[in-house]
Amino acid sequence: MKTFEYLRPTSLKEALDMLKNHDGNVSILNGGTDLIVRMREGHSSPEVVMDIKKIPGLDQIQVDEDRITIGATVLLNDLGLNEVIKTRYPYLAQAALSVGSKQVRNRATCIGNICNASPLADTATPLLALNADVHIYGEEGIKTVPLKDFFVFVRKTILKPTEIVTGISFKQDPEALGIFTKMSRRKEVDLSTVCSTVMRSGTEYRISCGAVAPTPVRLSKTEAFLSGKTLTGEVIEEACKLAEGEVTPISDIRASEAYRREMVGVMLRHALSEWL
Ligand SMILES: Cc1cc2nc3c(=O)[nH]c(=O)nc-3n(C[C@H](O)[C@H](O)[C@H](O)COP(=O)(O)OP(=O)(O)OC[C@H]3O[C@@H](n4cnc5c(N)ncnc54)[C@H](O)[C@@H]3O)c2cc1C
Repeated sequence: MKTFEYLRPTSLKEALDMLKNHDGNVSILNGGTDLIVRMREGHSSPEVVMDIKKIPGLDQIQVDEDRITIGATVLLNDLGLNEVIKTRYPYLAQAALSVGSKQVRNRATCIGNICNASPLADTATPLLALNADVHIYGEEGIKTVPLKDFFVFVRKTILKPTEIVTGISFKQDPEALGIFTKMSRRKEVDLSTVCSTVMRSGTEYRISCGAVAPTPVRLSKTEAFLSGKTLTGEVIEEACKLAEGEVTPISDIRASEAYRREMVGVMLRHALSEWL
C-alpha cells in the first residue's frame, strides 16, 4: 500500500477545513472495510486519508417520535442489534446483520455501505424502501438529499469532494411491513447475488433491489401497478413479470444476467405471497 497522510478531525468544522485545505483530494475513512481493501489492492491510492470516527455525535441512532436518524459512524452491528430498529424495522436490522461477518460489522458502518455506492450494498434496499434522506455537510452547511437521488453510478454518488455525510434518516412508519431478502452463493460472509426489500403500507408497495442495475434501485413501474390493488395470484404474477422487465442486471462471476432477472421475480413473488 502506498504511504499516505493521516488526518483525524475532532469536529465537523475541522473536517471541512481539512477537506478544503487539501482541495478535496482526501479519502474519508469510516470503518475502512471498503476503503482499506481497495487501497491494499491498489484500486485506490489516496495521498490523504481523513478518519472521521473521532468526530463526536456521529455514532448515535437518534429515535424521535416521527423520525429515526442513523449517524455517520454508527456500526452495522449496533444498527442491527438496536432494539427499536429490530422491533419496528426488522428488515433494516436483517440487512445490516447480513453484511460480512461479526468482525466486519464491528468496524463497518451503514453510512460507509451507502457512500461506497456498490450496486449490491445490503443496507441500501431497506433504506430506499423507507424513502430515507441523506444528510450532507459541506461549505453551504447541511443539506438533505433523498437516497434515491444520492446514487449516480457504480461507486459514484452526488457527493462533492468537500462534503461529508453526517447521517441518514427516515420517517417513522412502524405500521409498514417489510421483507428483506438476500441471495448469495454462501450463507455467511458473502456479497449479495441479488437482494431486495419489499414494503407494504395498506395497499401501497415499495420495492427496491440491489445487484440488478448500476445502483440500488426502486421498481417504480411495478410499485405503480400494485398501488391500490388487492393481492391475488394473478396480480402477483403480473407484478413479477413487470419487475423482471424493470431491472438491468449484468452477468459476472456471481451470476448471469438472466438468473438475476429471474430472481427479482422470485423474491417479489415470495414477499407478496406473505400478504395474500
Ligand atoms: C470480508 C468483507 C465482507 C463484506 N461483506 C459485505 C456484504 O455482505 N454486503 C455489503 O453490502 N458489503 C460488504 N462488504 C463491504 C463493506 O464492509 C461495507 O460496504 C461497509 O458497510 C462499508 O462501511 P465502512 O464504514 O467500512 O466504509 P469505509 O470503507 O470506511 O468507506 C467506504 C466508502 O465510503 C466513503 N465514506 C464513508 N463514510 C463517509 C462519510 N461519512 N461521508 C462521505 N464519504 C464517506 C469512503 O470514503 C469510502 O469511499 C464486505 C467487506 C469485507 C471486507
